Amino acid sequence: MIRLHDTMTREKRPFVPINRDRITMYVCGPTVYGRAHIGNARPAVVFDTLARLIRHEYGENSLVYARNVTDVDDKIIASAEAEGVDPSVITERYERFYLEDMGALGVASPTIAPHATREIAPMVAMIERLIERGNAYEAQGHVLFSVPSDPDYGALSRRDREQMIAGARVEVAPYKRDPADFVLWKPSPDGVIGWDSPWGRGRPGWHIECSAMIRAHLGETIDIHGGGLDLIFPHHENEIAQSRCAHGGAPLARFWVHNGFVDMGAEKMSKSLGNIVTPADLLEQGHRGETLRLALLSAHYRQPLPWTEALIEQSKTILDRLYRAAGDAETGEIDADVVEALSDDLNTPAALARLQSIDDPAVLKTSASLLGLLSSSADEWFRGGADEAAVEARIAERAAAKKARDFAAADRIRDELKSEGIILEDGPGGTTWRRE
Ligand SMILES: [Zn+2]
Repeated sequence: MIRLHDTMTREKRPFVPINRDRITMYVCGPTVYGRAHIGNARPAVVFDTLARLIRHEYGENSLVYARNVTDVDDKIIASAEAEGVDPSVITERYERFYLEDMGALGVASPTIAPHATREIAPMVAMIERLIERGNAYEAQGHVLFSVPSDPDYGALSRRDREQMIAGARVEVAPYKRDPADFVLWKPSPDGVIGWDSPWGRGRPGWHIECSAMIRAHLGETIDIHGGGLDLIFPHHENEIAQSRCAHGGAPLARFWVHNGFVDMGAEKMSKSLGNIVTPADLLEQGHRGETLRLALLSAHYRQPLPWTEALIEQSKTILDRLYRAAGDAETGEIDADVVEALSDDLNTPAALARLQSIDDPAVLKTSASLLGLLSSSADEWFRGGADEAAVEARIAERAAAKKARDFAAADRIRDELKSEGIILEDGPGGTTWRRE
């Protein structure tokens, strides 16, 4: 039995799906205008791991996992203007990078990846419904959600009215009836991306995108809605208000699951603070995707994760040890304690600790796959990434030097390889090598 912490009730509860043959999970995905940083990678890895656990528990085809792509947004429009290109040039480029970066971290593609620009009709339909029901109004080409029309607004974030107004202050505008009201649709001037609508040419606000795409692909009430802690307010609060008011009070999600921040020292990692580290940079520096994945899973997902060089090194050391223990094992059974640890609100630190005490290589290999780890063979892990032919050529060169009793040359070759992270081991059968 999987137990999950639900942000709405602030408690850990048994996870019982509405329909165990079609479990629905939605996670707010990337706004594609820049390279993803490690903080953005955390929810991708966390919910990928939860998806693996659900599929293990309920069956390979039991889960419909949707992660959207926000491909219309003011930051995208600004980037496109700065480069003098169409917004689609920006969004296609950064979506491709996002998928490459997450793929390197072992994140499998979600079942569905809806794109905002392709789902304008369901958004317009939901906005029309909200207007009909008295939950939204048109003002100066904008459509706004009327927060006072929803008595349950604020239930997820548990904010009072003062805090909500402070949180909405960035959107204060003369056409708002109430300072807490938020935008569902806004006008697009000529030359800016837009679509025709009953309120003129314009584009959707961010929040309506998720509500409309959840309804279109998964249904009115889903099992799990996920995302980073920073999305609780206002984004998820607004998603809830839109969906519940449009659907006659049906709750949007039965479990709200939020991951904590990745921080750099005392600060949250964020693009606006300029303190970001990207998976792309770390991979470029020679770190392996699986090392970064293990680092991201090393803390419980709800806790903050301090990102340090030491964390990366420690994760690499653990993986070296696990790969050595697993050797070239084939698949085996899954360790019950690993499943139990993950079932307890995705307790990845406990699951990782348990993995390190499993003796049977096949059980280790298969249990690690539940966390998306040990996906390579030990041989690939210790040697992968190096140009094998070039290393073999240098080893042959060194052997020839030794035969000619030119030990200085032989040592130089060994040292050069070591500086490239290649360790030579001389044995009775000749010289073998591995990555450091
Ligand atoms: Zn969302």
